[in-house]
Amino acid sequence: DQGIGSWTTRRARMSPDQVAVVGEGREWTYRQLHERATRFAHALAGLGVGAGDRVAYLGPNHVAFLETLFGTAKLGAIFVPLNTRLTPNELAYMLADSGAAVLVHAPSHAEHADALRGMVRIPHVVDLDEHARLVAQAPVEPLDEPVGQDEVAMIMYTSGTTGHPKGAALTHGNIQWNSVNLLIDVDLAGDEVTLVNAPMFHVAALNQTVLPTMLKGGTVVLMPAFDPEGTLELIERHRVTYLFGVPAIFAAVAASRRWAEADLSSVRTLICGGAPVPHQVITTYQERGLVFLQGYGLTESSPSASFLRTRESREKAGSAGTPCFFTDMRVVGPDGEQVPPGTPGEVVLHGPNVMRGYWGKPAETAAVLSADGWLRTGDVAVSDEDGYLYVRDRIKDVIISGGENVYPAEVEDALHKHPAVADCAVIGVADERWGEVGRAVVVLREGAGARPEELLEFLDGRIARYKIPKSVTFAGALPRTASGKLLKSQLRTTYGGQR
Ligand code: AMP
Ligand code: MG
Repeated sequence: DQGIGSWTTRRARMSPDQVAVVGEGREWTYRQLHERATRFAHALAGLGVGAGDRVAYLGPNHVAFLETLFGTAKLGAIFVPLNTRLTPNELAYMLADSGAAVLVHAPSHAEHADALRGMVRIPHVVDLDEHARLVAQAPVEPLDEPVGQDEVAMIMYTSGTTGHPKGAALTHGNIQWNSVNLLIDVDLAGDEVTLVNAPMFHVAALNQTVLPTMLKGGTVVLMPAFDPEGTLELIERHRVTYLFGVPAIFAAVAASRRWAEADLSSVRTLICGGAPVPHQVITTYQERGLVFLQGYGLTESSPSASFLRTRESREKAGSAGTPCFFTDMRVVGPDGEQVPPGTPGEVVLHGPNVMRGYWGKPAETAAVLSADGWLRTGDVAVSDEDGYLYVRDRIKDVIISGGENVYPAEVEDALHKHPAVADCAVIGVADERWGEVGRAVVVLREGAGARPEELLEFLDGRIARYKIPKSVTFAGALPRTASGKLLKSQLRTTYGGQR
């Protein structure tokens, strides 16, 4: 058997006493994690779960998440991690769409689970007490059903800006190759101590941090809910070596009171990605002497597509690097042909980490995945003469002003450099003369003041005139996904944008 369910079996054989997971003030070795996942697999089988069935998980980072993931995979069943921030309506859609046979949920989501029972047919709803009871009662005999690399291991929901979320069906092979790419590209070691401060229901936290660390036999430290000071505290306490985060997380950590005195000497690698990375964030970490890399990817590619590696991290700061070892990448024009360096185009990807398709959605799958396996990412980027990728923005978020393309991420990056700006977003609003113009939505730093004209003047000379927004609106906070991405569609609805 070659599925990801066998990873705990193999680790329990190779490094049984190594600590696999730290969380809730306890530790689990690989042997213990393997035994618990195996027992939960037996328990799931007892509930009638078999190969191809779906098992959903709803809750913050917790060892039970991993027991459920590996237990499900051992049966050749499919794991469906759910976003803890969603409403019962949104969750009901995902449970129905995936046809989940089991929902495992944390105590924090007991009310949601109750509501969901009345909204969608779920044969088994299991809370964490029941989960623990099932694990304690089940046998421990090895149980790794044969599963092929091309069989689906996980359904990860990714929300488009329009319509219903789509479930990216990731196979055992997809996840394995994504981890292999990461180990080759980023040099994770067997003694890695990885802090997981982003929610594991997101592909980046799970597949960029947890799973590659476990493939190598390192330790994952689970943080149930992100907070900047707590992140620094855990880094010190557990001598954390590796951490992945979206830009908003790294910015918040560097803005925390603890930042200046925190002992970061254990840290070997920081990877930032998942959203456009402001230069300000890169400089803050590099000035601290840390290795701060950038990664680019998306749920549909499990997720890693490219990395800026250690030795290039200063020289090419701001770039998302070059494709992963086993992944091919092109930047193409509307005709599908590769564009020359310096010309913006859409990023397309090919490789063993590219999803099989969207669960139960052949038309949506065909719209992004060509017959020969190239994935359209929907992202605009340019590559330089050396083949380094600079991701501009999502095609959908590009503002077309007087026939010129304005990439909001670039404008946001420039605005972030203003000392009074804590957070910002740029959206397109209708304009009679230009078709569309930019509007900046700005969150000011506590105690800081700035007039709209001041902010716009600040941009003058830093970016071309046509890119400068025509108006500024102040906000108390910006809507972001749990993974820190700006919710551009929500911003457009609230602040008068188009589309
Ligand atoms: P998701 O749709 O949640 O899977 O997130 C993937 C999207 O995040 C990509 O399609 C990009 O738009 C964005 N993204 C990921 N990494 C980067 C990066 N390094 N720079 C800019 N945008 C990124
Ligand atoms: Mg996406």
